[in-house]
Amino acid sequence: MDFREYQKKSRETAMYPGNGSNFVYPALGLAGETGEVVEKVKKLLRNHEVTEASQIPVEKKEEIEKEMGDVLWYLAQLATELDIDFGDVAEQNIEKILSRKERGMLHSEGDNR
Ligand SMILES: [Mg+2]
Repeated sequence: MDFREYQKKSRETAMYPGNGSNFVYPALGLAGETGEVVEKVKKLLRNHEVTEASQIPVEKKEEIEKEMGDVLWYLAQLATELDIDFGDVAEQNIEKILSRKERGMLHSEGDNR
């Protein structure tokens, strides 16, 4: 599935207050779901002493995968609220990252390298 299609289909499930004129709600949701992803990673270390990806139990990896989907959903809703094409986000980002790689700038600092 491409990002534009995901943005369009996921919008059909957007049922939050002020839907269509509320960029704050999906931004807060994005932060919350990002927290859920890293919380699960933290618990792998705390409860299972996992430090290598290959050590992660399949069910734990699936839990993280689902939370990553929740992050994606909120990011797509934020893009919609800001009238940003989610496909453009992906395309511009990969162009930026590949350009940095080609110019040997992946490890330097600054947002506009
Ligand atoms: Mg979640």
